[in-house]
Amino acid sequence: MHSIPVLPLPYGAAKEIIGRMKGQAVPSGWQGGLPYTYRIEGGPELKVRVNVTQKREIQRVYNVVGTLVGSENPDQWIIAGAHYDAWAFGATDPNSGTAMLLALSESLGKLSQAGQKPKRTIKIAHWDAEEQGVIGSTEWVEQFRDELDAKGVAYFNADGAVTGRNFGAASSPSLKGLAINTTKAIPFPDSSKSVYDVWLGKRTTPEPPLGNLGGGSDHIAFYTHVGIPSWNGGTGGHSIYHSNFDSFAYYERFCDPTFKMGPLVEQVFGIMALRLANADVIPYDISRYGTDLHTHFEGLQKLTKAYDKTPTPFSFDALIKAADDLKKIGEDCEAALKSVNLKNAKAINQELLALERQWIDKDGMQYGSWYRSLYASPDPYSGYASWMLPAFQYEASIRETANLKKWEQKYLDAIARLKSRVEKVTALAK
Ligand SMILES: [Zn+2]
Repeated sequence: MHSIPVLPLPYGAAKEIIGRMKGQAVPSGWQGGLPYTYRIEGGPELKVRVNVTQKREIQRVYNVVGTLVGSENPDQWIIAGAHYDAWAFGATDPNSGTAMLLALSESLGKLSQAGQKPKRTIKIAHWDAEEQGVIGSTEWVEQFRDELDAKGVAYFNADGAVTGRNFGAASSPSLKGLAINTTKAIPFPDSSKSVYDVWLGKRTTPEPPLGNLGGGSDHIAFYTHVGIPSWNGGTGGHSIYHSNFDSFAYYERFCDPTFKMGPLVEQVFGIMALRLANADVIPYDISRYGTDLHTHFEGLQKLTKAYDKTPTPFSFDALIKAADDLKKIGEDCEAALKSVNLKNAKAINQELLALERQWIDKDGMQYGSWYRSLYASPDPYSGYASWMLPAFQYEASIRETANLKKWEQKYLDAIARLKSRVEKVTALAK
């Protein structure tokens, strides 16, 4: 618990306070967006009385998790979750996600009653106490850590899932292909285009902007503590993040006046879940590990170059080469899987399930052993940003060079483990 009470101020109150401050101005870079000089002190005349009412008490929190048991592979789990606790009314954050997942539960239930049960298990989770430190989902993941390690296929997160009409998502590498392909199959409301087309827009890039996942919500424990491929998505546009104005009236007026975006998000989650649940071979994007690693290592090279003034500055060349090899091996594997020998499907899926777990390091990160994924982490300073290859990100953040070699070896080892798993899949596919 923080020892200094923190209170966001609305504009009206901020104006009264900042406008009356007469002390020393803030250093450059600290001036905020209001039309007043921001100051460190108020001056001797100014007194502000802040009343903070926070009860100190023990609260029990409840996660609500529903399970649709898979008809063929009940021990492979696809989990979709959203938190349901809110700071205030919480119409968009989190309940646009909550409502979407409730609708999805109903749809999956109807399909199931009509004889179309998913082949793998689908779980739908409503997490408590997310706003208090992502507590509900973290406790659940810790409680079921061994089972999740053995059974977790993917985790999809919906937090503030609908605030407008701009589709967006962030993902671990292995779910990127599935996400992109799924959006091609879904029509965008009030248009003749697909979600994919609208998402790509006028960009000339080969793909729409699918971000990288790290911090900020209930995927953290799944992805960075256990190593389960994770995805977060929704439609953005009118966020009034954690404000008292995040009410149903606001939602109806600004975020989704025709109530079509929630169903769109439900379709994306549902089709992604069903494709993962029903495929003979889990449709992970295997070569994407190498592609993304290459990009991240290049970015890190720029970061460390800026401060590494040692006689032989650390080079990411060996890691970039390993990433490129992994990409090639991944492409060979995907080619082999196109004409896969299904008698080995069970063994292949076991190998595929283990891919993301190869990033798990038992000692964890230097800033906290709970963060065990070498691939992704929330940044330890705010908890919100996505840190890719976080051990290196941390060294760069403290401008340290002494440990880079040690981490290079850990990353080379993890990539080697991934390679050998992917090669096993290729061999089994033939
Ligand atoms: Zn939230």
